[in-house]
Amino acid sequence: ASDPPARRVCILGATGSIGRSTMEVVAHLRKVDPEYRWQVWAASGHRNLDTLAEVALSADPVPRRLVASCAQTHARVSGNGESPLARFSGEILAGPDALVRVATDPEIDVLVAAIVGRAGLESTLAAVQEGKRVALANKETLVVAGPIVRQAAQKSGAELLPVDSEHSALFQCLGDRPDDVEKLILTASGGPFRDWSTEQMRQASVQSALNHPTWDMGAKITIDSATMMNKALEIIEARWLFDVPAETIEVVVHPQSIVHSLVEFRDHSVISQWSPPDMRLPIQYALTYPRRLPGVAKRWNRQQPCQLDMLPADRERFPALDLGFEVARVGGTAGAVVNAANEVAVGLFLDGQIRFTDIVKSCHQVLQHHQFDASPTLADLVQIDQWARRETLRFADGL
Ligand code: NAD
Ligand code: MG
Repeated sequence: ASDPPARRVCILGATGSIGRSTMEVVAHLRKVDPEYRWQVWAASGHRNLDTLAEVALSADPVPRRLVASCAQTHARVSGNGESPLARFSGEILAGPDALVRVATDPEIDVLVAAIVGRAGLESTLAAVQEGKRVALANKETLVVAGPIVRQAAQKSGAELLPVDSEHSALFQCLGDRPDDVEKLILTASGGPFRDWSTEQMRQASVQSALNHPTWDMGAKITIDSATMMNKALEIIEARWLFDVPAETIEVVVHPQSIVHSLVEFRDHSVISQWSPPDMRLPIQYALTYPRRLPGVAKRWNRQQPCQLDMLPADRERFPALDLGFEVARVGGTAGAVVNAANEVAVGLFLDGQIRFTDIVKSCHQVLQHHQFDASPTLADLVQIDQWARRETLRFADGL
């Protein structure tokens, strides 16, 4: 028998939480998939080249190409001959442009978009334009440029498959009769401050905000979960990914993070997707869809009692939710502005420069002050993103 065909994966953001989980999934698929021979073909990291080297060299086979997307870091380390990447014999590319080059490389079949923040936009969009399968963890890409990415996918035939657990759940529950769908219901754990008063949140420390009850993730999304800005971003992500109006989307608080989201149909039947919190499941499904293969993710243990709570979301204590619905409703430049403001404000909070409750306040403020444009080009979005970053710093300065 001849060898099965190769399935070559490019992981951008390989050193992060999703990136490392993806490395595990690919290693697993290599063992269990009789139809394809999986391998990580290219991988990127940003500042920490030690981690990139460690992640890449522990893969079997080792990726052919690595990207150090932060060009300065790469130049500094390779300049004095002590690069941690010295043992890597493949090709090393540097700088943000290299991300687009590997994402569109004809040799790769799947892009796993696992960079955090707006920094993932160009490479994700480029892979979509190239007609690749894109396993999308980088929700900020759809928040910033949802309509542009959607259009590009329609034109190229690219498959845009969700990695975000809620969107993977919706995708798994939806079925093929879209007219029968009444509501997409996103679950939210509620984060570490689910039961805190606004006053307590005003005083919240960085440490307590980084302490997520059910998920172990990168710092930015962990803070986003505490403010519930993560759910706001996911509302916007769902709006573009499934092409539904904001009114179709709802949020319910589910502290156990076992039900990953639900779909309500017109006859009021509700279908949900369950599994213990483990990102390797939605990653694997995005890679193998429409096939389901033996899982690497944790399995629901029926020997343990399992309790599921579903609670209404508190939109007063978590004003990010209304912000998310508003942005999903108006579209245009609003997503780029709120996303940029949030990225900057989260950074300021992590640096101890603003209060926890100032994060969402800054996003509101900057959204209110921006020059709304209903159908921006990509260049407009890039420009307004930069404006919103400056405006957030200015607002935070006056706090
Ligand atoms: P992380 O912080 O653990 O990893 C981020 C990755 O992006 C790293 O590889 C880092 O080197 C790279 N990176 C950071 N800044 C960059 C830049 N300016 N240019 C290029 N690369 C850069 O983040 P994460 O938790 O893995 O999240 C990644 C994405 O997946 C985010 O968009 C997040 O919202 C989404 N997501 C994560 C989870 C999760 O469980 N971690 C769940 C759902 C969605
Ligand atoms: Mg999620």
